[in-house]
Amino acid sequence: MNPFQYERASDVSAALTARARAGAQYLGGGTNLIDLMRETIEHPDVLVDVTGLSRDIEETQAGGLKIGAGVKNTAVAADRRVRECFPLLAQAILAGASAQIRNMATVGGNLMQRTRCLYFYDDAARCNKRAPGEGCDARDGFNRNHAVLGASESCVATHPSDMCVALAALDAVVTVRGRNGSRDIPLIAFHRLPGDTPQIDTVLEPGELIIAVTLPPNGIAARSSYRKVRDRASYAFALVSVAAGLQMEGGMIKDVRIALGGVAHKPWRAERAEAALRGRPATEAAFRQAAEAELASAQPLRDNAFKIELATRVIADTLGKLTKAQGAAQ
Ligand code: SF4
Repeated sequence: MNPFQYERASDVSAALTARARAGAQYLGGGTNLIDLMRETIEHPDVLVDVTGLSRDIEETQAGGLKIGAGVKNTAVAADRRVRECFPLLAQAILAGASAQIRNMATVGGNLMQRTRCLYFYDDAARCNKRAPGEGCDARDGFNRNHAVLGASESCVATHPSDMCVALAALDAVVTVRGRNGSRDIPLIAFHRLPGDTPQIDTVLEPGELIIAVTLPPNGIAARSSYRKVRDRASYAFALVSVAAGLQMEGGMIKDVRIALGGVAHKPWRAERAEAALRGRPATEAAFRQAAEAELASAQPLRDNAFKIELATRVIADTLGKLTKAQGAAQ
Protein backbone atom coordinates (compact mmCIF):
# COMPACT_ATOMS: atom_id res chain seq x y z
CA MET A 1 0.00 0.00 0.00
CA ASN A 2 1.32 3.45 -0.89
CA PRO A 3 1.67 6.12 1.82
CA PHE A 4 -1.30 8.51 1.96
CA GLN A 5 -2.64 11.42 3.98
CA TYR A 6 -5.90 11.13 5.93
CA GLU A 7 -8.36 13.99 6.48
CA ARG A 8 -11.74 13.91 8.16
CA ALA A 9 -14.19 16.33 6.48
CA SER A 10 -16.14 18.55 8.89
CA ASP A 11 -18.86 19.39 6.37
CA VAL A 12 -19.75 18.92 2.69
CA SER A 13 -18.03 22.11 1.60
CA ALA A 14 -14.78 21.09 3.30
CA ALA A 15 -15.04 17.64 1.72
CA LEU A 16 -15.41 19.11 -1.78
CA THR A 17 -12.43 21.40 -1.22
CA ALA A 18 -10.24 18.58 0.09
CA ARG A 19 -11.27 16.24 -2.74
CA ALA A 20 -10.27 18.86 -5.33
CA ARG A 21 -6.60 18.22 -4.48
CA ALA A 22 -4.63 16.01 -6.86
CA GLY A 23 -4.76 12.33 -5.92
CA ALA A 24 -7.59 12.73 -3.39
CA GLN A 25 -10.43 10.24 -2.99
CA TYR A 26 -13.44 10.07 -0.69
CA LEU A 27 -13.42 7.41 2.03
CA GLY A 28 -16.67 5.85 3.24
CA GLY A 29 -16.63 2.72 5.38
CA GLY A 30 -13.54 1.57 3.49
CA THR A 31 -14.79 -2.00 3.12
CA ASN A 32 -13.87 -2.05 -0.58
CA LEU A 33 -11.48 0.87 -1.05
CA ILE A 34 -9.00 -0.30 1.60
CA ASP A 35 -8.87 -3.75 -0.05
CA LEU A 36 -8.21 -2.07 -3.40
CA MET A 37 -5.42 -0.01 -1.83
CA ARG A 38 -3.84 -3.09 -0.27
CA GLU A 39 -3.89 -4.75 -3.68
CA THR A 40 -2.38 -1.55 -5.18
CA ILE A 41 -5.29 -1.23 -7.61
CA GLU A 42 -6.19 2.13 -6.06
CA HIS A 43 -3.41 4.37 -4.75
CA PRO A 44 -4.83 7.69 -3.51
CA ASP A 45 -2.47 10.30 -2.09
CA VAL A 46 -5.18 11.74 0.18
CA LEU A 47 -8.19 10.02 1.75
CA VAL A 48 -11.03 12.42 2.58
CA ASP A 49 -13.15 10.69 5.23
CA VAL A 50 -16.82 11.60 4.70
CA THR A 51 -18.32 9.12 7.15
CA GLY A 52 -19.23 11.92 9.57
CA LEU A 53 -21.53 13.59 7.02
CA SER A 54 -25.15 12.88 5.97
CA ARG A 55 -25.94 10.36 8.70
CA ASP A 56 -29.74 10.68 9.02
CA ILE A 57 -32.77 8.87 7.65
CA GLU A 58 -35.61 11.37 7.18
CA GLU A 59 -39.20 11.08 6.00
CA THR A 60 -39.88 13.19 2.92
CA GLN A 61 -42.93 15.40 2.47
CA ALA A 62 -44.05 13.12 -0.37
CA GLY A 63 -44.16 10.13 1.99
CA GLY A 64 -40.86 8.49 1.06
CA LEU A 65 -37.52 8.27 2.83
CA LYS A 66 -34.28 10.18 2.36
CA ILE A 67 -31.28 8.15 3.51
CA GLY A 68 -28.02 10.02 4.11
CA ALA A 69 -24.96 8.72 2.27
CA GLY A 70 -23.11 8.27 5.57
CA VAL A 71 -25.74 6.01 7.16
CA LYS A 72 -24.33 2.56 7.87
CA ASN A 73 -25.87 -0.38 6.06
CA THR A 74 -26.80 -1.99 9.39
CA ALA A 75 -28.74 1.12 10.43
CA VAL A 76 -30.70 1.18 7.15
CA ALA A 77 -31.66 -2.49 7.45
CA ALA A 78 -32.72 -2.01 11.09
CA ASP A 79 -34.80 1.14 10.52
CA ARG A 80 -38.48 0.45 11.25
CA ARG A 81 -39.68 2.64 8.37
CA VAL A 82 -37.44 0.79 5.92
CA ARG A 83 -38.52 -2.63 7.17
CA GLU A 84 -42.24 -1.77 7.04
CA CYS A 85 -42.44 0.35 3.89
CA PHE A 86 -39.49 -0.88 1.79
CA PRO A 87 -38.89 -4.46 3.00
CA LEU A 88 -36.90 -5.53 -0.05
CA LEU A 89 -34.24 -2.93 0.79
CA ALA A 90 -33.73 -4.33 4.30
CA GLN A 91 -33.68 -7.88 2.88
CA ALA A 92 -31.14 -6.95 0.21
CA ILE A 93 -28.77 -5.32 2.69
CA LEU A 94 -28.99 -8.28 5.08
CA ALA A 95 -28.24 -10.63 2.17
CA GLY A 96 -24.92 -8.89 1.56
CA ALA A 97 -21.48 -9.36 3.12
CA SER A 98 -21.26 -10.06 6.88
CA ALA A 99 -22.55 -8.30 10.00
CA GLN A 100 -19.10 -6.81 10.63
CA ILE A 101 -18.88 -5.38 7.10
CA ARG A 102 -22.45 -4.05 7.22
CA ASN A 103 -21.57 -2.28 10.48
CA MET A 104 -18.77 -0.43 8.67
CA ALA A 105 -20.20 0.04 5.17
CA THR A 106 -22.10 3.20 4.27
CA VAL A 107 -24.87 3.83 1.76
CA GLY A 108 -22.62 6.08 -0.35
CA GLY A 109 -19.78 3.58 -0.26
CA ASN A 110 -22.10 0.76 -1.26
CA LEU A 111 -23.01 2.69 -4.43
CA MET A 112 -19.32 3.17 -5.22
CA GLN A 113 -18.04 -0.37 -4.66
CA ARG A 114 -16.22 -1.92 -7.59
CA THR A 115 -16.60 -5.26 -9.29
CA ARG A 116 -15.36 -8.42 -7.60
CA CYS A 117 -14.13 -9.88 -10.93
CA LEU A 118 -11.14 -12.03 -9.90
CA TYR A 119 -9.03 -10.78 -12.81
CA PHE A 120 -9.59 -7.17 -11.75
CA TYR A 121 -7.85 -7.99 -8.43
CA ASP A 122 -5.05 -10.04 -10.03
CA ASP A 123 -2.33 -7.75 -11.38
CA ALA A 124 -0.84 -10.67 -13.33
CA ALA A 125 -4.04 -10.76 -15.44
CA ARG A 126 -5.09 -8.49 -18.28
CA CYS A 127 -7.99 -6.23 -17.28
CA ASN A 128 -9.41 -3.25 -19.18
CA LYS A 129 -11.06 -1.92 -16.04
CA ARG A 130 -7.77 -1.78 -14.15
CA ALA A 131 -5.53 -0.93 -17.13
CA PRO A 132 -7.57 0.39 -20.10
CA GLY A 133 -6.55 -1.12 -23.44
CA GLU A 134 -4.77 -4.09 -21.88
CA GLY A 135 -7.43 -6.70 -22.68
CA CYS A 136 -9.84 -8.83 -20.66
CA ASP A 137 -8.74 -12.23 -19.38
CA ALA A 138 -12.23 -12.99 -18.08
CA ARG A 139 -13.73 -13.30 -21.58
CA ASP A 140 -11.91 -16.55 -22.28
CA GLY A 141 -11.09 -17.40 -18.70
CA PHE A 142 -13.13 -18.59 -15.72
CA ASN A 143 -16.29 -16.53 -16.19
CA ARG A 144 -18.96 -18.34 -14.18
CA ASN A 145 -19.74 -15.19 -12.17
CA HIS A 146 -19.73 -12.77 -15.08
CA ALA A 147 -22.37 -10.82 -17.00
CA VAL A 148 -24.92 -12.17 -19.45
CA LEU A 149 -26.68 -8.84 -20.11
CA GLY A 150 -25.28 -5.51 -21.33
CA ALA A 151 -21.64 -6.60 -21.47
CA SER A 152 -19.13 -5.47 -24.10
CA GLU A 153 -16.02 -6.79 -25.81
CA SER A 154 -14.02 -4.73 -23.32
CA CYS A 155 -15.55 -6.01 -20.08
CA VAL A 156 -17.95 -8.69 -18.85
CA ALA A 157 -17.83 -7.87 -15.14
CA THR A 158 -20.86 -7.73 -12.86
CA HIS A 159 -21.82 -5.16 -10.25
CA PRO A 160 -21.45 -6.62 -6.76
CA SER A 161 -24.03 -4.70 -4.70
CA ASP A 162 -27.23 -6.22 -3.33
CA MET A 163 -28.48 -2.90 -1.94
CA CYS A 164 -28.29 -1.21 -5.34
CA VAL A 165 -30.49 -3.88 -6.94
CA ALA A 166 -33.22 -3.11 -4.42
CA LEU A 167 -32.75 0.63 -4.99
CA ALA A 168 -33.09 0.10 -8.75
CA ALA A 169 -36.45 -1.62 -8.25
CA LEU A 170 -37.60 1.17 -5.93
CA ASP A 171 -36.95 4.02 -8.41
CA ALA A 172 -34.46 5.51 -5.95
CA VAL A 173 -32.83 8.85 -6.73
CA VAL A 174 -29.21 9.69 -5.82
CA THR A 175 -28.47 13.28 -4.80
CA VAL A 176 -24.88 14.37 -5.41
CA ARG A 177 -23.05 17.64 -4.86
CA GLY A 178 -20.08 19.10 -6.70
CA ARG A 179 -18.30 22.45 -6.91
CA ASN A 180 -21.09 23.71 -9.21
CA GLY A 181 -24.04 22.66 -7.04
CA SER A 182 -26.33 19.66 -6.55
CA ARG A 183 -28.06 17.33 -8.96
CA ASP A 184 -30.34 14.29 -8.75
CA ILE A 185 -29.57 11.09 -10.67
CA PRO A 186 -32.01 8.17 -10.97
CA LEU A 187 -30.33 5.11 -9.48
CA ILE A 188 -30.80 3.14 -12.70
CA ALA A 189 -28.79 5.82 -14.53
CA PHE A 190 -26.10 6.16 -11.84
CA HIS A 191 -24.03 3.09 -12.80
CA ARG A 192 -22.76 2.55 -16.36
CA LEU A 193 -22.62 -0.36 -18.75
CA PRO A 194 -18.99 -1.00 -19.70
CA GLY A 195 -18.96 -0.13 -23.42
CA ASP A 196 -15.45 0.87 -24.50
CA THR A 197 -14.65 2.54 -21.16
CA PRO A 198 -15.13 -0.10 -18.43
CA GLN A 199 -12.76 1.79 -16.13
CA ILE A 200 -15.61 4.29 -15.51
CA ASP A 201 -18.19 2.75 -13.19
CA THR A 202 -20.63 5.63 -12.65
CA VAL A 203 -21.81 8.90 -14.18
CA LEU A 204 -20.33 10.95 -11.32
CA GLU A 205 -18.25 13.94 -12.40
CA PRO A 206 -14.79 14.28 -10.82
CA GLY A 207 -15.11 15.40 -7.21
CA GLU A 208 -18.87 14.95 -6.90
CA LEU A 209 -19.94 13.64 -3.50
CA ILE A 210 -22.98 11.43 -2.86
CA ILE A 211 -25.19 13.19 -0.32
CA ALA A 212 -28.29 10.99 -0.04
CA VAL A 213 -30.52 8.39 -1.65
CA THR A 214 -34.24 9.13 -1.77
CA LEU A 215 -36.89 6.43 -1.94
CA PRO A 216 -40.12 7.82 -3.40
CA PRO A 217 -43.40 6.37 -2.14
CA ASN A 218 -44.92 3.84 -4.51
CA GLY A 219 -47.57 1.16 -4.55
CA ILE A 220 -45.23 -1.80 -4.88
CA ALA A 221 -42.71 -1.07 -2.15
CA ALA A 222 -44.60 -2.56 0.80
CA ARG A 223 -45.31 -5.75 -1.20
CA SER A 224 -41.82 -6.53 -2.31
CA SER A 225 -39.00 -8.96 -1.70
CA TYR A 226 -35.36 -9.65 -2.52
CA ARG A 227 -34.13 -13.11 -3.54
CA LYS A 228 -30.44 -13.92 -3.85
CA VAL A 229 -28.97 -17.12 -5.28
CA ARG A 230 -25.32 -17.74 -4.45
CA ASP A 231 -22.83 -20.54 -4.01
CA ARG A 232 -23.01 -20.54 -0.20
CA ALA A 233 -25.54 -19.26 2.29
CA SER A 234 -23.65 -16.18 3.48
CA TYR A 235 -20.74 -13.94 2.63
CA ALA A 236 -20.95 -14.61 -1.11
CA PHE A 237 -21.84 -12.43 -4.07
CA ALA A 238 -24.97 -13.12 -6.10
CA LEU A 239 -24.94 -15.50 -9.03
CA VAL A 240 -28.39 -14.03 -9.70
CA SER A 241 -30.56 -11.86 -7.51
CA VAL A 242 -34.06 -10.48 -8.01
CA ALA A 243 -35.64 -7.45 -6.35
CA ALA A 244 -39.34 -7.35 -7.12
CA GLY A 245 -42.54 -5.64 -6.02
CA LEU A 246 -46.07 -6.28 -7.16
CA GLN A 247 -49.37 -4.41 -6.85
CA MET A 248 -52.49 -6.44 -7.66
CA GLU A 249 -56.05 -5.37 -8.40
CA GLY A 250 -58.74 -8.02 -8.83
CA GLY A 251 -56.34 -10.74 -9.93
CA MET A 252 -54.66 -8.41 -12.43
CA ILE A 253 -51.22 -6.88 -12.16
CA LYS A 254 -51.69 -3.17 -11.60
CA ASP A 255 -48.01 -2.37 -11.23
CA VAL A 256 -44.72 -4.24 -10.98
CA ARG A 257 -41.02 -3.52 -10.50
CA ILE A 258 -38.22 -5.98 -11.18
CA ALA A 259 -34.46 -5.48 -10.95
CA LEU A 260 -31.71 -8.08 -11.34
CA GLY A 261 -28.30 -8.44 -9.75
CA GLY A 262 -25.35 -10.65 -10.69
CA VAL A 263 -26.13 -10.48 -14.42
CA ALA A 264 -24.75 -7.14 -15.63
CA HIS A 265 -22.17 -4.38 -15.07
CA LYS A 266 -24.90 -2.41 -13.25
CA PRO A 267 -28.10 -3.20 -11.38
CA TRP A 268 -30.37 -4.32 -14.22
CA ARG A 269 -33.89 -2.96 -14.31
CA ALA A 270 -36.08 -5.53 -16.08
CA GLU A 271 -38.21 -3.07 -18.03
CA ARG A 272 -39.21 -5.54 -20.75
CA ALA A 273 -40.56 -7.97 -18.18
CA GLU A 274 -42.39 -5.18 -16.35
CA ALA A 275 -44.03 -3.96 -19.59
CA ALA A 276 -45.08 -7.51 -20.45
CA LEU A 277 -46.81 -7.92 -17.08
CA ARG A 278 -48.67 -4.65 -16.43
CA GLY A 279 -52.42 -5.12 -16.89
CA ARG A 280 -52.17 -8.90 -17.30
CA PRO A 281 -53.49 -11.68 -15.07
CA ALA A 282 -50.95 -12.83 -12.50
CA THR A 283 -50.29 -16.38 -13.67
CA GLU A 284 -47.23 -18.62 -13.62
CA ALA A 285 -47.22 -18.64 -17.43
CA ALA A 286 -47.27 -14.84 -17.60
CA PHE A 287 -44.38 -14.58 -15.13
CA ARG A 288 -42.31 -17.11 -17.06
CA GLN A 289 -43.00 -15.42 -20.42
CA ALA A 290 -42.09 -12.00 -19.05
CA ALA A 291 -38.85 -13.34 -17.58
CA GLU A 292 -37.96 -15.02 -20.87
CA ALA A 293 -38.61 -11.75 -22.71
CA GLU A 294 -36.18 -9.98 -20.38
CA LEU A 295 -33.46 -12.58 -20.84
CA ALA A 296 -33.96 -12.88 -24.63
CA SER A 297 -31.01 -10.55 -25.28
CA ALA A 298 -28.66 -12.40 -22.92
CA GLN A 299 -25.26 -13.39 -24.31
CA PRO A 300 -23.66 -16.13 -22.24
CA LEU A 301 -19.95 -16.82 -21.93
CA ARG A 302 -18.36 -20.26 -21.66
CA ASP A 303 -19.20 -20.85 -17.98
CA ASN A 304 -22.28 -18.76 -17.20
CA ALA A 305 -25.12 -19.83 -19.53
CA PHE A 306 -26.85 -21.30 -16.46
CA LYS A 307 -27.58 -17.75 -15.30
CA ILE A 308 -30.17 -17.29 -18.05
CA GLU A 309 -32.43 -20.11 -16.89
CA LEU A 310 -31.63 -19.36 -13.25
CA ALA A 311 -32.68 -15.71 -13.60
CA THR A 312 -35.82 -16.73 -15.50
CA ARG A 313 -36.85 -19.14 -12.76
CA VAL A 314 -36.04 -16.81 -9.87
CA ILE A 315 -38.01 -13.95 -11.45
CA ALA A 316 -41.05 -16.19 -12.02
CA ASP A 317 -40.84 -17.78 -8.58
CA THR A 318 -40.42 -14.45 -6.77
CA LEU A 319 -43.43 -12.94 -8.54
CA GLY A 320 -45.46 -16.08 -7.84
CA LYS A 321 -44.69 -15.87 -4.12
CA LEU A 322 -45.56 -12.16 -4.02
CA THR A 323 -48.89 -12.91 -5.74
CA LYS A 324 -49.71 -15.66 -3.24
CA ALA A 325 -48.77 -13.43 -0.31
CA GLN A 326 -51.13 -10.72 -1.53
CA GLY A 327 -53.93 -13.27 -2.06
CA ALA A 328 -53.46 -14.51 1.50
CA ALA A 329 -53.54 -10.93 2.82
CA GLN A 330 -56.87 -10.07 1.09
FE1 SF4 B 1 -11.33 -6.60 -16.08
FE2 SF4 B 1 -13.91 -6.43 -16.73
FE3 SF4 B 1 -12.41 -8.23 -17.90
FE4 SF4 B 1 -12.96 -8.51 -15.29
S1 SF4 B 1 -14.41 -8.60 -16.97
S2 SF4 B 1 -10.97 -8.78 -16.31
S3 SF4 B 1 -13.06 -6.36 -14.66
S4 SF4 B 1 -12.15 -6.00 -18.06
